Amino acid sequence: MENKILGLHHITAIAGDPQQNYDFYTKVLGLRMVKKTVNFDDPQTYHFYFGNETGSPGTILTFFPWPGAKQGKNGAGMATEIGYSVPEASLEFWQKRFDDYKVNYETPTEEFGEKFLAFEDPDGLKLKLVISSAPDSRQGWEVNGITKEVALKGFHSVTLNLQNKAQTARVLTDIFDYKLKEKEGNRYRYITNAVENASIIDLIEDPSSERGINAAGTNHHIAFRVKDEASQQFFRNKIIQAGLNITGKIDRDYFYSLYFREPGGVLFEIATDNPGFTRDESLENLGSSLKLPRKYESAREKIEGLLPKLSQ
Ligand code: ZN
Repeated sequence: MENKILGLHHITAIAGDPQQNYDFYTKVLGLRMVKKTVNFDDPQTYHFYFGNETGSPGTILTFFPWPGAKQGKNGAGMATEIGYSVPEASLEFWQKRFDDYKVNYETPTEEFGEKFLAFEDPDGLKLKLVISSAPDSRQGWEVNGITKEVALKGFHSVTLNLQNKAQTARVLTDIFDYKLKEKEGNRYRYITNAVENASIIDLIEDPSSERGINAAGTNHHIAFRVKDEASQQFFRNKIIQAGLNITGKIDRDYFYSLYFREPGGVLFEIATDNPGFTRDESLENLGSSLKLPRKYESAREKIEGLLPKLSQ
């Protein structure tokens, strides 16, 4: 089996109020909550996973919602924009919906010849809906007035903000086999041909950019996708050979993870396809009940008592 980085696996961000976060992603954007669990390092905090029907890698946005969290700030050394791929001619629908739900958005514009609609979630996290110029056969989740003709298909891209892009670009090209595709102003588009979608990383180089503050409304890390643990180990070795520090393998119940901070300051993860979100729930029931890692199961009652109530 050839070892490849298969684009993005998931992106993880920080939110404030859990109910507000849940309502926005499931009811306004129409994503499916594919897992409701807790932060494995802080079980009094939820960990929400939103994705397509099955929670396919490349569609998953996850949040740690902290009630009363202080506001973060985008800046250098962070992932600063998340791009979702949407069907052709769907931006009008989304503008109307954003008006109805009082979502902050900007007039659609273009970059690299692709039309997009930039908007913010209730915590100020920056996202955009992009009409991809590459074919995208992934089908979105149909729910709450959102048909497959307009539904979010999964990730299109993620943008990283850097004071100097050289060493970050080297990780992408030399270790992960991405290629520089094009450049517009100080935005450099890197792409892997290992997958058809969720294959783009944009680097914005801005030497005057201040470091970001990682709190509510900002991204915590981005995870790249590998098929399995053997492939993950292959990349772990490459990263060590490049002189970077990386963690050992961590069991996240739904995938195995490794973490390293790339030289530009962004926290990168490498996550496996296995075992996936149907490990402990059927496809029909994904996200419907609180799932706890084995080590916390004996404290379920206490944990459920401490977590904020969530109406689904
Ligand atoms: Zn992660």
